[in-house]
Amino acid sequence: MAYITLNKNNFFNNLDIITNKTKSKDKVAIVLKDNAYGHGLIEVASMAKEYGITKAVVRCQVEADVIKDFFDYILVLAEIPSFKSDKIRYTINDIKTIKKFPQETKVELKVDTLMHRNGVDMGEVEEAINLIKRQNLNLEAVFTHHRSADELSSEWFIQNENFKKIKKTVLSKGFKNIRFHSANSASLMRYENFDEDMARVGIAAYGCLQSDACDVSEFKAVLSLIANKNSSRSVKKGDRIGYGATYEVKKDCKISNYDFGYADGFCRLLSNNYITPCHNELIGRISMDNSSFISEEDELLIFDDATIPAKGAGTIAYEVLTSLKPYIKKVIK
Ligand SMILES: *Cc1c(COP(=O)(O)O)cnc(C)c1O
Repeated sequence: MAYITLNKNNFFNNLDIITNKTKSKDKVAIVLKDNAYGHGLIEVASMAKEYGITKAVVRCQVEADVIKDFFDYILVLAEIPSFKSDKIRYTINDIKTIKKFPQETKVELKVDTLMHRNGVDMGEVEEAINLIKRQNLNLEAVFTHHRSADELSSEWFIQNENFKKIKKTVLSKGFKNIRFHSANSASLMRYENFDEDMARVGIAAYGCLQSDACDVSEFKAVLSLIANKNSSRSVKKGDRIGYGATYEVKKDCKISNYDFGYADGFCRLLSNNYITPCHNELIGRISMDNSSFISEEDELLIFDDATIPAKGAGTIAYEVLTSLKPYIKKVIK
């Protein structure tokens, strides 16, 4: 079976850069949604804990339950709970859902400051707070999300200004210990002097941040994908390889087939259009469970930086990584 290696030194290197920005490990919430961006929920949770990270962000309750013992604080982004929990905080994404949260649940209010995806409208914040009080929920934080923090435009500044107004409104309602956070990876890296209570960091920790608006050169990719050989054969100039016979062999050579296909998360758009870090050419169409390369190696490094296959497939590293199936074995190195 193809397998994943996770480079702990690279992960810690990335966390060093991140904590340099936040000025404290306590202000970093590692984003572990979707199987920790394909890296393995338990594997990344254990490495993050070893580093000293105490906070995590996930998408749903099932993920939160798996990592409960690794962290002091967990934020669930998109699920209304059926019972309250001490450790787990839940996001209010829509003012109309406030009445569905069980009494005394710890909640964080998401505010839409420009992205127009999730969160209550800026004009609804006071009403939302009144409803939260009426429902007897425990409001711990107010947060927002940036839509273009990785682009050099004025939008990042506009959203920061909008969020400042929200902070004022919330504080004027008499909340003393309430926390505020807005930064994802790309936003955090733009701060000269980070002054919020927490940053929610995903892609930068995994070493695949791409941004026009900050220096990303020191981040190192954590995940490598290695496939094992199924078979080898000698082929002659003019032979055609794989489904649809889409690749014609240019000169006599040895080729091999490896156990990583689109069902495992190999983007099929890369068929006939990908070269591995060690210069092995992908030939023919990617099949469901396998793919062929000009190579004789028993083990083949498919990629060690998800931004590269992402570019070839016209997508982003987030999609390449989260497409990797959870059953792929992980080895921490
Ligand atoms: C996924 C997500 C993040 C992490 O974003 P990165 O770009 O990976 O750092 C932060 N906040 C929210 C609300 C998210 O959904």
